[in-house]
Parts: sequence; C-alpha cells; structure tokens
Amino acid sequence: MEGTGQGPIIAVVAERAVGETRVAATPETVKKLVKLGATLKVESGAGRHASISDADFVDAGASVGDLAATVKDADWVLGVQAPAVLDLAGAKPGAKVAAIFDPFRNRDVIDAYSAAGFETLSMEFMPRITRAQSMDVLSSQSNLAGYKAVLVAADTYGRAFPMMMTAAGTITAAKAFVMGVGVAGLQAIATARRLGAQVSATDVRSATKEQIKSLGAKPIFVESVEGIEGEGSGGYATEMSDEYKKAQAELVSSHIAKQDIVITTALIPGRPAPRLITDEQIASMRPGSVIFDLAVAQGGNVEGSVPDEVVEKHGVKIVGFSNTPAHLAADASALLARNFFNFLSAFWDGEKNEVVLDEEIGDAIRLTKDGKVVNERLTA
Ligand code: NAD
Repeated sequence: MEGTGQGPIIAVVAERAVGETRVAATPETVKKLVKLGATLKVESGAGRHASISDADFVDAGASVGDLAATVKDADWVLGVQAPAVLDLAGAKPGAKVAAIFDPFRNRDVIDAYSAAGFETLSMEFMPRITRAQSMDVLSSQSNLAGYKAVLVAADTYGRAFPMMMTAAGTITAAKAFVMGVGVAGLQAIATARRLGAQVSATDVRSATKEQIKSLGAKPIFVESVEGIEGEGSGGYATEMSDEYKKAQAELVSSHIAKQDIVITTALIPGRPAPRLITDEQIASMRPGSVIFDLAVAQGGNVEGSVPDEVVEKHGVKIVGFSNTPAHLAADASALLARNFFNFLSAFWDGEKNEVVLDEEIGDAIRLTKDGKVVNERLTA
C-alpha cells in the first residue's frame, strides 16, 4: 500500500463512534480523487453500513487495508467524525485531518490533535459563502435530517398525515408545526407537505417567512418583539432577548395545543440548543401527538427529550436521534463524500499536485497546526 510518490496520500478511515454509519468517501469520489493525482487508501469495512463494499472501493482505484496500513504515511486523513488521535500515529508528521470535529463540545480532542502536531480542518466551520456551499457538510446533512425527522414522526404517529375520504368516513389531515427553518426545517416543511399534512412553521429570522410561504406552509411569527432581520451572522441565529423568549413562549403555547406533529430544529452555533417547548406545553397537546427533537444531541429544544429514546409524556411521544443523518447512511455518505471532494478539488494545485488552502476558507476551518490551537472561534 505505498503511494505513487506523485500526489498526496489520502486515507479514509472507518468510523468508530457508536451509531456512526457514514463514510467520508464513496467509489465516486475515490475515482475523482485518483484522477486528480491522489493515492487513496481506504480502511477495510469503512463503507459497510453505507452499502459500499471493500471491492467497490478497490474497483474505484483505492487500496484497502487495515487501519495501520491505511493511515501509514498519509498526507491527509478523512473521517466523518474525528478519528482518535492515537489511531493516526503512522500518518506523516503534521498530516491534515479533515472531519466533523464538533469543536465546541470536544475541546479535549482538539487539544490532543494539537499536541500531536496534526493540522485539523473542521468541515462544520466551513464559511457560509457561495463558493463553499458545495463543501458545506452541515447543509448536506441537515437536509437529510429534516426529511428523516418527518418520516420518523409520521411512522410514530398513530394516525395518517393526509386527509382521506373513504367509504368508512373521512380522516382529517395532520397538523404539523416546524420550529426553526434553516436547512433541516425547510426540508421538514417540504416533506410534511408532500405527505399531506397542514404545515405551519416559525423561526427567529424574519427572512424565513417568505421561504415558509413559498413552500405552501403558514408562518407563525412573534410580531410584538423584533426578531433577527436580514441574514444575521452568516445566516445563523443568536441567543434571543428575554423579552423575545417570553413573547415566543406565549405564541407557541397557543399554537402548539392544536398541533399533532412538531419538528424542532433550532440551533445556535457554539451554544446549547434553545429550549422551545416546555413540559406544560407538551401537556397541552392532544394525546397521540408526536414531537421530533432534531436538536436533542445539542441539549434539546424540547423539555425531557432523550437521544435515541421514545419518551412519552402526557400521552405525547417525544423522539430524537443522537445522529439523524446516520439513519440514511448511503445518501448521507454520498453527500458528505462529495462535500469532501468539492473541498479538496477546489484547492487542488495541479502543478504542485497537492491541496493548497486559501486564507478565507483555510483559516475558517483550521483548528490546529504546528502544535497550536489556531482557530479564533476557539481561542477568542
Ligand atoms: P441552524 O442549524 O444553525 O439553525 C436552525 C434554525 O433554527 C435556523 O433557521 C435558526 O434561525 C433557528 N433558530 C435558532 N434559534 C431559534 C429560536 N429560539 N426559535 C426559533 N428558531 C430558532 O441553521 P442552518 O440550517 O444551518 O441555516 C441557517 C441559515 O444559513 C439559513 O438561512 C440557510 O439558508 C443559510 N445557509 C447558507 C449557506 C451558504 O450560503 N453557504 C449554507 C447553508 C445555510
């Protein structure tokens, strides 16, 4: 498993985190990277859960071996979640490791990478600029997560989503409410609409109102207190004022009691997820209703939600996965792998036959280099 001595050696490791089913490369992206001049090494079994066999990777031009052989002399290591630092001992000194690091919650991992001298590149810190859209792992994964959340909610719900007129009588359409209309929320609205629910949605960013309407759903917004106008910082929400939170809680209380399905997706980068639904509000819902908390792994939007468990409170089922995209392993991997490929190929220097990052994107995603934590979002 030696490199050709031309382009970089790119290692793709199998995921070891519990419940992680995705893989950072697919035969399609392996083929494209080999064409660019890279040498691809894939750990045996890396694609197993995503329906990709070792033979598929070999056919695409990668060599397949155990962890040590895969990582040996690698210039780059790609992972979905950050691999353990110890597992990368055989890589080149200062090798680049690109993955989803969850840096705010895994500071100890970042420090360990720094101490080991690796250059870590956190894919979820990709700036939200037009040219980086195709490299944006948060978007590609959130989109699938929003879709899956609705399917799981529909499956958990003891009633149907669409209105049905049958000889035995009419079934009324389910009422679904989506809280947080970013990438996941928009897909949740579209999916719930496709299934025939009557959909309403809310966000703190007023720009989402038009997006909600354009998907045929009803916007439910706090009008008495100003939310976030424009796109905010890169389109992200911030923590809201106490006055806004109070107005939002009142609005949600009156609306939620009439809902059958609630999908919550609200996140604030670097902070715990905002609490949007209290136990009291859950109690006001009709028994048999379902809430899917997409933010459960970030602390949860819903009081009492527990990752990977169906919690029943006041007759309402509360569901949420610790890793929703992992429930769509093949498509989530396909999109992630393309995000990685688009990133590497955008910075491919054909003459040097290596990846040369620019400042705007490089500095935004680089966490550690030369034994130091260098990202200002972590050092500030
Ligand atoms: P996110 O995952 O950070 O948050 C999900 C949603 O929750 C957001 O819409 C946010 O406003 C909302 N939210 C936060 N606090 C809330 C609260 N208290 N109550 C209700 N809602 C709350 O967001 P995201 O999906 O990453 O998308 C954020 C924005 O960035 C979107 O406008 C998206 O279109 C944009 N975006 C741009 C690019 C790009 O240009 N490259 C890429 C991806 C997303």
